[in-house]
Amino acid sequence: MKKIQMVDLQGQYAKIKAIVDPSIEEVMNSAAFINGPKVHRFQKNLEDYLDVKHVIPCANGTDALQIAMMGLGLKPGDEVITADFTFAATVEVIALLQLTPVLVDVDPVTFNIDVNAIKKAITPKTKAIVPVHLFGLPAEMDEIMALAKAHNLYVIEDNAQAIGANYTHKDGRKTKAGVIGDVASTSFFPSKNLGCYGDGGAIFTNNDDLAHTIRGIVNHGMYKRYHHDVVGVNSRLDSIQAAVLDAKLPHLDDYNKARRSAAKKYNEAFKDHPNITVPSGLDVCNGICDTCDCHVFHQYTLNLKNVDRDALVAHLQEKQIPCGVYYPIPLHKQKAYTDDRYNEADFTVTNQLVKSVISLPMHTELDNEQIDFITSTVLNFINAN
Ligand SMILES: *Cc1c(COP(=O)(O)O)cnc(C)c1O
Repeated sequence: MKKIQMVDLQGQYAKIKAIVDPSIEEVMNSAAFINGPKVHRFQKNLEDYLDVKHVIPCANGTDALQIAMMGLGLKPGDEVITADFTFAATVEVIALLQLTPVLVDVDPVTFNIDVNAIKKAITPKTKAIVPVHLFGLPAEMDEIMALAKAHNLYVIEDNAQAIGANYTHKDGRKTKAGVIGDVASTSFFPSKNLGCYGDGGAIFTNNDDLAHTIRGIVNHGMYKRYHHDVVGVNSRLDSIQAAVLDAKLPHLDDYNKARRSAAKKYNEAFKDHPNITVPSGLDVCNGICDTCDCHVFHQYTLNLKNVDRDALVAHLQEKQIPCGVYYPIPLHKQKAYTDDRYNEADFTVTNQLVKSVISLPMHTELDNEQIDFITSTVLNFINAN
């Protein structure tokens, strides 16, 4: 059996080396390292893929979030509501801009931001909601957009984990995650579903004015050379990363399909076990199937009941099966983000999930032998303990 990895970037690269290497070499030969034609081409191709008017490439997914918030003109003291159960980048940039983060609980089934908790957290100071499409499953965007409209709030989608996912609206229409809110951010960190070979990120929007504002912000607030109209940042996707991404973009749907196929096999092994809840959100399209494309499984995460999660982690490590705990500490309990306003009773779901979730290896190169070994090792441990 091939050695099991949490993410197999070498295996993936080996299959596309013949496309990626010449694309990188072209950049080297042209020496157009910054803002070269590769960046422009990737931007256009991603706009077409997502069916969005504007993609603005930038240096990483954290910058993308920050720049989206700067572009919306959010001001110190404005409250921004986001999920307690996510990667810290989301809350970090809110705090960095001196906006007030308001963390709220998530749904125990989808792990995504709880719409009722958002409703409860809205005050006259609230200016924006940041849903995170966690682990590759879009948040409940129809409900969130309706709530935002009723309270005149911006919606910034953190799409770092769900690029390529489809969101099925209540009327049956499908759109890509990341093109529903006012603006969205994504990350091309190597392990993300569309990853480059270094750092990268992008902002998406259908709003022409906002796109114009953001294009200036990523470039030192310049709209005309050496005229700095607003305080900006320096955040660029370099041409080598764009070359990698442009070579990989045509494969994104197949990559996400491979992830779903691995998830389906995991689900089949685990779904009837009384101590295991398999990832959900799949029932919105009647179970995982070849045409079901709403979840792109950035992570495959089980929720365990009456299982010593940490002992399982140790056991898997012993068997050379990598795994992860995303995320082990709720953001509201992180030193940097604690706040007297928070009440533990409002975070019952996140407080539980941090103790009971485990993420299994998930990538585009998992084979049946590896999946069988992983599922039997997990089940044997749970049944024996
Ligand atoms: C990865 C990630 C980010 C940050 O992306 P970087 O490119 O690493 O800066 C932000 N939000 C979420 C939910 C992420 O998973």
